[in-house]
Amino acid sequence: DLPMIYFITPTHYRPEQRAELTRLSNTLRQVPNLFWILVEDAEKRSPGVAEVLARSKLQHAHIFSLTPADKKLTDKDKNWKLPRGVEQRNAALTWIRTNLAGIQKGVIYFGDDDNSYDLRLFDEIRAVKKVGVWPVGIVGSLLVETPVIGAEGKLTGFNSIWKPERPFPIDMAAFAVNLQLILAHEDVAFTYEVPRGYQESHLLSGLGISASDLEPMADHCSKVYVWHTRTEKSKLTATEREKFKSSNLLA
Ligand code: UDP
Ligand code: MN
Repeated sequence: DLPMIYFITPTHYRPEQRAELTRLSNTLRQVPNLFWILVEDAEKRSPGVAEVLARSKLQHAHIFSLTPADKKLTDKDKNWKLPRGVEQRNAALTWIRTNLAGIQKGVIYFGDDDNSYDLRLFDEIRAVKKVGVWPVGIVGSLLVETPVIGAEGKLTGFNSIWKPERPFPIDMAAFAVNLQLILAHEDVAFTYEVPRGYQESHLLSGLGISASDLEPMADHCSKVYVWHTRTEKSKLTATEREKFKSSNLLA
């Protein structure tokens, strides 16, 4: 039987949220043995998110964890000012350790609500033994940010140009981790206490991983199956902005 993919998605309320979650659910429902851990950046579950989840027919956990006000980006902030999704991914890790202890087979992936996923990505995720890595499209000022594979099929480095000195200069979408590794390191979590761009490195280092442990996937990292797409912020009239504030578009 197929190992379960635990697909962790932080999500926050914005005009585009319903569109993003609908598109993502249409992708995920094509995938067998996938468990969606959807984590709202909110103080409670919203009925609209629950509805998208229910219609997806996917196995899922619907949880929430609010980003503290001093860590929340405003519309005016540059998106790189603070890390996004920290509380939510940590809530998912806690959920996993609480609910999946004793489960043998499984792979964890951090899949944001606005990225684009080729269905072939899920075969790669599922085949991960320890930590699998692969290319990500349009991220880090590159068309493709990718591990570099040498003649013997071994990982020799990374082509990253943004902070290439990081232990793991890769995006959140570039790797998946075996469930056992997460269960075996109960204190490992994301944090605000690391420099910008170090969330991935912090997690993987905490799991006791070094570069030689990484399994290059996606045909020796020659295929792009996930893109770090970003949705443009919609322009709205003042009236529409008010409407948006006072109603839950997902309800
Ligand atoms: N996110 C969140 N709360 C926020 C901002 C973002 O939960 O205040 C989620 C968002 O929905 C996405 C993930 O965190 O699934 C990454 O955020 P974003 O896509 O804005 O980051 P970027 O792609 O720019 O790194
Ligand atoms: Mn994004």
